[in-house]
Amino acid sequence: MRVLVTGGAGYIGSVMVRMLHSHEHDVLVFDNLSKGHRSAVGEAPLEIGELTNLEDITRVCESFLPEACMHFAAHSLVDESVRDPLKYMRDNPVGSLNLARALCECGCRYLVFSSTCAVYGVPEKVPITEDEKTEPINPYGASKLLIEQALSELAKRGVLSFVSLRYFNAAGADVENDLGEDHQPETHLIPRVIKAALGIEQSAVIYGNDYPTSDGTCVRDYIHVVDLCKAHLLALDYLKGGGDSLILNLGNGNGFTVKEVVDSVKRVSKKDFQVRVESRREGDPPILVASSEKIRSKLKWAPSYTDIDQIVETAWIWHSRHPEGYGD
Ligand code: UDP
Repeated sequence: MRVLVTGGAGYIGSVMVRMLHSHEHDVLVFDNLSKGHRSAVGEAPLEIGELTNLEDITRVCESFLPEACMHFAAHSLVDESVRDPLKYMRDNPVGSLNLARALCECGCRYLVFSSTCAVYGVPEKVPITEDEKTEPINPYGASKLLIEQALSELAKRGVLSFVSLRYFNAAGADVENDLGEDHQPETHLIPRVIKAALGIEQSAVIYGNDYPTSDGTCVRDYIHVVDLCKAHLLALDYLKGGGDSLILNLGNGNGFTVKEVVDSVKRVSKKDFQVRVESRREGDPPILVASSEKIRSKLKWAPSYTDIDQIVETAWIWHSRHPEGYGD
């Protein structure tokens, strides 16, 4: 299949591009390289452009004629979204709707969309099922929810079919293909703690130890990037097979506290380092853990990495090999 991958130079998108290649798909990457890395794209053709510019994406769709699209490109940082809500509430929906329009105009009907557990806000029940209320507490989650609502409306009117995957915390590295997480600046927990273990940062930081959890630190569901991309492939097959549009959680169903993640990095790296506690980060719900029952039954998906040390180990290997990331 001809598959357009927006954000294919980014952390998750680049792993997806390799996986699509190895499954014999014909891939085109569309990325603005604002956060992605050219070298992470590998051999795949890359078109540089802005999704917020309808002409850029229309031109690419008209010449590539994709049969399906995986849409990773977005602003995706909770704390940045709190500081700059307009950037998120404008660019994420506008970019996605431009993409939907360009896809439909060239006859492409299948879309796998990267959504987020941030659409739930502070859930009433954990593990979170897809019918939990959606009341995001940050603009990032609100922007993704808006897109899901637009896609649902388009699907209802027969314009396209989509699978929206509500990611929990993507983590780890694709060691086989030498692809990992490199954000500038890095805000995510696992790479930041690993940087402390490597001596690149003076200490690891825990944002808040007064949450209503077992040790006072936030609980998250960490899902390995390779497992996450496998779910996208299954979603593509599902859509190709004529499946109805779906919204699915994508997490392991296991929660780990920030302190447990820090301990895991200490075990895996066999390094000790300083850990500092700072105040809570705005926009962070205390506990986000997926119920993964629906995705297991609808897509026959199951994660291979369920243990936090296994996930952290792949990240540790990649960061040890690439202390400066992709170096671009
Ligand atoms: N976190 C932390 N220290 C850091 C980075 C993150 O304590 O250096 C916490 C953050 O407050 C959240 C969890 O780790 O509770 C996961 O944050 P991350 O940014 O990795 O992902 P998010 O949940 O925001 O998507």
